[in-house]
Order: sequence, then structure tokens, then C-alpha cells
Amino acid sequence: MKRILIVEDEPVIAIALQDDLEAEGYEVEAVSDGATAASRLRDSSWDLVLLDVMLPGKDGFTVLREMRKSGNRTPVILLTARGQEQDRITGLSLGADDYVTKPFSRKELLLRVQAVLRRSAGKAADGYSFGDVKVDPTRGEVRRAGKPVDVTALEFKILLLFLENRGKVLSIDTITQRIWGADTFQSDRVVYTHINNLRGKVEPLPQQPKYIVSVRGMGYRFDG
Ligand code: CA
Repeated sequence: MKRILIVEDEPVIAIALQDDLEAEGYEVEAVSDGATAASRLRDSSWDLVLLDVMLPGKDGFTVLREMRKSGNRTPVILLTARGQEQDRITGLSLGADDYVTKPFSRKELLLRVQAVLRRSAGKAADGYSFGDVKVDPTRGEVRRAGKPVDVTALEFKILLLFLENRGKVLSIDTITQRIWGADTFQSDRVVYTHINNLRGKVEPLPQQPKYIVSVRGMGYRFDG
């Protein structure tokens, strides 16, 4: 059973979240201030933290910063107030995995929770995996059925970009900006070529891609 820690000082929100997540089969604990959150994070292991930003005493950003500093990589979804664009940017730069803006719908929150848990499930302590492929970002290594796969530095960067954005459509523009930089002009053809080469190396049937799929008119999406 996946364990979720809710850190939220508004009882109405905390209770509603806890009920909804328990109804979905998660094991849930709710705490209402940052200091208690920090101690529960130290004492126990969690699959996900829903972290309110505005908390009495120690705020959500401080809790998150301390977590990441101590090497705790548990996925975090921040609960931010409407209109606080800067909060989202700060949160993501501190290592939050996603955010939802209050007031949020229960359905939206559940979808975010499922997406973040799905992403972290494929992200083993030593990297990412899909099918018989393992990717180790620290060592810059790709292995397929245990054997090293010879990928170029660019292919490796593209593969990581996909793995960090599982289930999301990435446009050619987004891929170009993230891989080559915002000011670079890169012909779409070059991007296609790298992606096709990458498919040849990691797809079971490169002609019928299962993981790096084309989304007509929009770009590519990593499934799995
Ligand atoms: Ca609050």
C-alpha cells in the first residue's frame, strides 16, 4: 500500500484530502505544521508528500528544502495559493515534483497523485527502467537486458528528457529548447533523426515504437 503524508493546516482541506485518498486505497497520515512534518519525514518512509506552502511556523518551502538537502528524494506535490506564480517557480526549483493550485478539484488532485506515483515507480534508486532497458543518469549508462547500449551524448539527453516527462507530450520545439538551448535553431529533421536512432537502440520493434511514440501533429510522448 502506498503511503502518503499530507501537510496542511486547514482542517477542512486536510480531512477532505485524507478521506479521498483513503477511498482510493492509499495509507494516509495528516499533520498540520512544518515541524511535525519534518519529524514524520525523518521517522518514517513515504511514497508521496502533499505539502502546503503556507504553514504555521516552518513553511512548506523550508520543509522541502531541508528534505532535499538531507537527501530525501520522496516525491512532493505542493499545494499553492491561487495567483502565486512565484510560489510554483520557487517550489519546482527547490525540487517539488508537481503542484496544484488552491482551490483544486478532488479529481485533479487524484490524477496528479497517480501521475507522480507512476513516475516515481519507474525511477529506481539507481535510475530509470522500462521494458528490459535500464538508464543510469549518474553513470550516463544505458543497458538493455544487462548489456551496455552505445548511445550518443545527445541521444542520452533526449532519452532522459523523455523519462523525466513520462506520459507528457513533448513538442519538437520543447525538445529542441531543452536539448540544444532556447536560442538555438535546429531543423525538425535533426530531431527526428536523433529520435529514430534512439528508437533503434531502445525499442523492441523500432518500426512500431512502444515507448517513444509519435503524437500526430503534436510531437512525442514516452509511454510505459
Ligand atoms: Ca495553509
